[in-house]
Amino acid sequence: MRGAVLHGPGDVRVEERADARIVLPTDAVIRLSATCVCGSDLWPYRGIEAVSGPSPMGHEYVGVVQEVGSEVRNVKPGQFVVGSFFASDNTCPICRAGYQSSCVEREPVGGLGAQAEYLRVPLADGTLVATPELPPDDLVPDLLAASDVLGTGWFGAVAAQVGPGKTVAVVGDGAVGLLAVLAARHFGAERIIAVSRHEPRQKLAAHYGATHIVTERGDEGVARIKDLTDGLGAHSVIEAVGTQESMMQAIRSTRAGGHVGYVGVAHGVELPGEELFFSHVHLHGGPAPVRRFLPELIDLICRREIDPGRVFDLALPLEQAAEGYRAMDERRAIKVLLNP
Ligand SMILES: [Zn+2]
Repeated sequence: MRGAVLHGPGDVRVEERADARIVLPTDAVIRLSATCVCGSDLWPYRGIEAVSGPSPMGHEYVGVVQEVGSEVRNVKPGQFVVGSFFASDNTCPICRAGYQSSCVEREPVGGLGAQAEYLRVPLADGTLVATPELPPDDLVPDLLAASDVLGTGWFGAVAAQVGPGKTVAVVGDGAVGLLAVLAARHFGAERIIAVSRHEPRQKLAAHYGATHIVTERGDEGVARIKDLTDGLGAHSVIEAVGTQESMMQAIRSTRAGGHVGYVGVAHGVELPGEELFFSHVHLHGGPAPVRRFLPELIDLICRREIDPGRVFDLALPLEQAAEGYRAMDERRAIKVLLNP
């Protein structure tokens, strides 16, 4: 089968890989209908995260079940399924508490390489959620978004305790930040402030429900958000970048007693203890337990109540994955869909 492999910084190649096959009786093999490039794929692509030798890439996936192992009960061949970037059993105490991305049996799907024609999905019964019927083609990008960026933005909003009457700020205008705006509107936020300096992203943020745009970053951005909130800061702030600057912007933009939901993968972030102590801000976040939200997200998408697939502003054949990485690296595209 064909699949994308990272050979070193800036060097993604689509090449022959060993066919995905059932290894354990709890596995499924799916034929991918669509996959995509993640903002987090850019960390190793840029050489910021080291890779040890050629690495299959990709952890976002939707597709049709081809084959299941002998112990799989909940999904069957022919079903269209969505899964998340951590395989999980969905039965352990951590999963039952809603934290499937910390499942005691968890397995990262990224190591299996979803930017390919086929994918082996471990723990298929706990990981995969089937759609009620085969979706029409135009819903495939929306369902693919649910696999990671929508579920992650959703968790950011849940972790930040977004709700009716609240003012919400979203730091980060990548796909996760934009879909956190969508989630904030879904949860009834009264005002949604999107931090973005890129016009096409500002437009999409407005489409998803942003009521205010702040273009400044860092402490200037904090001052603008304070200006909009009587000097208090937002009730709920979603951090969707993962840098020191964005994390501190999120914390400092939150009012005393408010909540930060941080879902940008942290790189080199160090939190100042004294400032945190006196801030009175709640912090919660981490790798999103997307599996917790998948049934609800699939339902909202199939009823066409949300349109998260708009974050895919470039679609390419899988064979052109290298161009997809370049387009995202250079911020020419918000998010790139790959057609196997
Ligand atoms: Zn578990």
